[in-house]
Amino acid sequence: MAWNIDCSDPLSPRLGAEDFTQGIRARADAVAAVAANNVVSVDLEARFPAEAIDTMRAQGLLAIMVPQDLGGEGASLSDVVDVCYRLAVACSSTAMIYAMHQIMVACLVRHSRNNPWHARFLSRICAEQLLLASSTTEGRHGGDIRASDAPVTYVGSRINLEKQATVISYGANADAIVTTARRAPDAPDSDQVLVAFPRETYSLEPLLEWDTLGMRGTCSAGFILRASGERDQILRDPYEKIHAQTMAPMAHLTWASVWTGIAADALQRAQAFMRHAARRTSGQVPPGAVHLTRARSSLETLRWLVTSFLRRYERALHSDDALVSLDFQTMTNLIKVEASELAVSIVLSAFRACGLSGYRNDTEFTLGRHIRDILSSPIMINNERILSNLGPAALMSTVPKWLCS
Ligand SMILES: Cc1cc2nc3c(=O)[nH]c(=O)nc-3n(C[C@H](O)[C@H](O)[C@H](O)COP(=O)(O)OP(=O)(O)OC[C@H]3O[C@@H](n4cnc5c(N)ncnc54)[C@H](O)[C@@H]3O)c2cc1C
Repeated sequence: MAWNIDCSDPLSPRLGAEDFTQGIRARADAVAAVAANNVVSVDLEARFPAEAIDTMRAQGLLAIMVPQDLGGEGASLSDVVDVCYRLAVACSSTAMIYAMHQIMVACLVRHSRNNPWHARFLSRICAEQLLLASSTTEGRHGGDIRASDAPVTYVGSRINLEKQATVISYGANADAIVTTARRAPDAPDSDQVLVAFPRETYSLEPLLEWDTLGMRGTCSAGFILRASGERDQILRDPYEKIHAQTMAPMAHLTWASVWTGIAADALQRAQAFMRHAARRTSGQVPPGAVHLTRARSSLETLRWLVTSFLRRYERALHSDDALVSLDFQTMTNLIKVEASELAVSIVLSAFRACGLSGYRNDTEFTLGRHIRDILSSPIMINNERILSNLGPAALMSTVPKWLCS
């Protein structure tokens, strides 16, 4: 069930590169078709969406953002955001896996170009279509992404890491893990680094299973991660910088796009249900139509939110100062909170429009999976944590005049 959008769609206007963008869209749609065919069993069995990810590899979609000189296609943020959206209309887990992978690729592309080890690794990602997972959540720190417990230890040019990685999406299926860690055993927990470990350099000991309400196909189980490698695998930029410039904005943008896709598919189902109901009552507008109207208008707001943050990020990408400005950092965090809350409300409005037909699991209008999947959005880095961290920034920053006049 696709939510067709035309070329003027604000989520993906890559001006001056229409053919390229159309090509990426066609490849994404090929993956989405496979994902849609398997979405029910992926959700029911909480299994990795192997068919869709294989098709993603066959379509060469995993490395589109890597620069051309390293073997990639140099695709824009808009292209990646658009792929996330298209996949999410078909299968939330497939889309979230793609989003998480691209966040790691973006970190490597921006923060490691002057490091030969990472340049070689990026070329490998292109040639072998490697799938990257991420590990930030850890034992006692839980969702506090800006603190790490496990330290990197050093023996000459070699490094080791052992980490209680309580959540690693598709950890068992990934070709590499990009992980945060404390810089050294004597470093404070906020002095973090980001390290890339290819599959052959780590082992995973199962710690926690992934039997959840939604996003079941992400298979985000917990493991003890034991890794060793070369010092060069550590990205040279400190994680503090990587987090502010790439990890957080990229995560919040691509996740928001995934949530928009889930919400769009829910709206599409609600609209189909309304038409179906109206036909059965000789064209009378069903009473639940008010919820459809609400869902539609909230979806427009959500799309506007994602698009305006995308444009803002694209503009800021060219300036380190713009990326770390208080204003941009505040927007990066607020987009996550706002987009997740809006997406939940859209899916719930669509559900109210469908009534029992949405509640049932055996109708074409069922919305159980959408509700379960979208409920992950406010807790995927808890909104409360984000809002309470934003408190000091809200006090320090001046409210722009245009906002209040
Ligand atoms: C689908 C999915 C996929 C994921 N994939 C990955 C992955 O691949 N890799 C990875 O590392 N992690 C992953 N995560 C974990 C994610 O990044 C967060 O770590 C996790 O969602 C936070 O879980 P939490 O709510 O238990 O933790 P916490 O953020 O620690 O929150 C626990 C509780 O404390 C409250 N709380 C926390 N801080 C505050 C505060 N300052 N003020 C008020 N209340 C607060 C929260 O509201 C919550 O009720 C994934 C999560 C999901 C849902």
